[in-house]
Amino acid sequence: MSFRKILMAALAAAAIGYGGAVAQERLDIFDAHLHYNQEPAPFYSHEQLLEVFRRNGITGILANSRPNKSTHQLMEAKATGLWVVPFIRPYRTRSDIQTWFNDPAIFELIRNEYERGYYRGIGEFHIYGKAAASDWVKKTVDFAVERNLYLLAHCDEEALLILFGHNPKARIIWAHTGFSVAPARVAELLEQHKAGLWGELSYRGGITESDGKLSAEWRNLFERYSDRFLLGSDTWVNERWFGYDTIFKEYRGWLAQLPAEQARRIANGNALRLFGPRPGG
Ligand SMILES: [Zn+2]
Repeated sequence: MSFRKILMAALAAAAIGYGGAVAQERLDIFDAHLHYNQEPAPFYSHEQLLEVFRRNGITGILANSRPNKSTHQLMEAKATGLWVVPFIRPYRTRSDIQTWFNDPAIFELIRNEYERGYYRGIGEFHIYGKAAASDWVKKTVDFAVERNLYLLAHCDEEALLILFGHNPKARIIWAHTGFSVAPARVAELLEQHKAGLWGELSYRGGITESDGKLSAEWRNLFERYSDRFLLGSDTWVNERWFGYDTIFKEYRGWLAQLPAEQARRIANGNALRLFGPRPGG
């Protein structure tokens, strides 16, 4: 075969598309759990932030921050190539994590933030067990449903079920997918809440074995529910910024072991389906 023929054959093969292992394309990734906090100053300037994203192939982020000011700034910056999906953080200071669910001032904060017009969700918020049963949490869930907002909830299974109990139409992204909740149980919950539950995978245990290979349980879960998972960095403390490259290297390590279409959904396709269309195409 002439060089030209070989080249044409290679291009044709690339156009048809191989499975995940062969594909050399670098997947765009949507970071669905990004905190850009200012306490009192952000760890990275916008310029540094964009460099970190560029280096890691991050083309979209679910952004929230404490206080919400950094999210406003990200929205105003309109950085080229970065799609920012803003969520309302229901905290003014770190201590609000412990009390927001009984605090009418936080509900007021959510309502005021919402007036900005660009928010797509509320969270990340933390809630455990029966604390989720409070009136203010119900008001928050109803507020979200009425306005088509997603909830990014860091919660245990008991609280998750209470959130759905408040309003079965809630659309919840389960931050950390329950950390260690058994994969079989995760599958049941995804099955029971087909239109309203997604799992975000930062800090989620058990996805890979110690050698970096996907565990059988998670390979199976991704095979059945690749349309229900999102990747996140969870930059809740500055150490997570130091580790940002490693976090996404690990994600890419196991994404590469999945069939290409499953990997694409988890990397960015699901985010696009939830929050799209992406501005500007
Ligand atoms: Zn969290």
